This record gives sequence, structure tokens and C-alpha cells, in this order.
Amino acid sequence: MIHIQSLIDDAKCLETVRDLRWPNGVHCPTCDSSEVTKQGRDDTQPERQRYLCKSCEQRFDDLTNTIFAGHHQPLRVWILCLYFMGLNLSNHQIAQELDLNKDDVHQMTCQLRQGIVVQKPHPTLRDKVECDEVYLVAGHTGKPNEVGKKGGAAGADGSRANVDAERSQPRNRRSSG
Ligand SMILES: [Zn+2]
Repeated sequence: MIHIQSLIDDAKCLETVRDLRWPNGVHCPTCDSSEVTKQGRDDTQPERQRYLCKSCEQRFDDLTNTIFAGHHQPLRVWILCLYFMGLNLSNHQIAQELDLNKDDVHQMTCQLRQGIVVQKPHPTLRDKVECDEVYLVAGHTGKPNEVGKKGGAAGADGSRANVDAERSQPRNRRSSG
């Protein structure tokens, strides 16, 4: 019986990875510069190219920042998994073809659907908006009676509180918009 893993080689797999992650040529995964030079090959995987970025001087290779780096499955298994996904094989069928555990294949196909380059989480601006809301409320802190008073016969303290409220309102409206 022919084993499909013996029919493909690492050189082709790495070429596929390069095509997928760098369709317009090699770019630095740190600063996205295309000013990179080749820096020899990996010690254990001779087909795995190393690079040096001329802009930020970071070293990286074909698999840096991909889901394949540091994974226990060989690259050819990942690429075959990707190939079978393209043929619409189920996780169960892929597991059989690659002689793998179905749970492992499930994990691999989930990761592959997210893309082969590891995504960095982006910060959201939600906390800032909440901070504005807190600021708005803080204008009345310690003066609960002033909230209900709109002008009227207030003492010196009361008038000052109303001026503060009027002054703070447009500013809050602008910052939240
Ligand atoms: Zn760089």
C-alpha cells in the first residue's frame, strides 16, 4: 500500500508555505519590510530558509509566526491536511488518510481555517469609552441634590455647581461622539 506522506517532500511543502504567507515576496514578520536577505538554512531542516531583515535586524525563517512553528506534527502532515480540506474531506476521513487521531485533526483544521500566520490580538477602544461615562457621572459626585436643581433659588454653592454642570456637558458630548 502506498503511503501518501512518502510521496511529498519538505522542499515542496516549504515552497507552498512561502507562497501562502508571502504571495508578493518575503516580508519581515516584525516590521513588514521587504528588505530581507537570506541567511543560510535551518540546522535540522535544510529546506527551511533563514532570513535577516535589513530594516529592524530581526532574524526569522519560513515558519516564523506560522501555526506550523514548534508543532509536533511534521509540516508535510499539515500541508496534506490543508490539501484534504480543499477536497472537502471530513475530519474523520482526514484522520484516516493521515493515520492521526480525529481530535488532533479537528484541532489542525480549526487552526488552518484561521489562517497559517499567527494573529496578534488587537486592543479595543471600549475601555476609553467607559472612562468617559465615569467622568460624566463624576461631575455630580457628592452633590446628589444639585442633579435635580435646574437654576432656582440656590445658595452660592448651588450656583457654582450649575455652572460646573453646564461647562462639563458640551465637553462630554464632544468626547463621546
Ligand atoms: Zn523587520
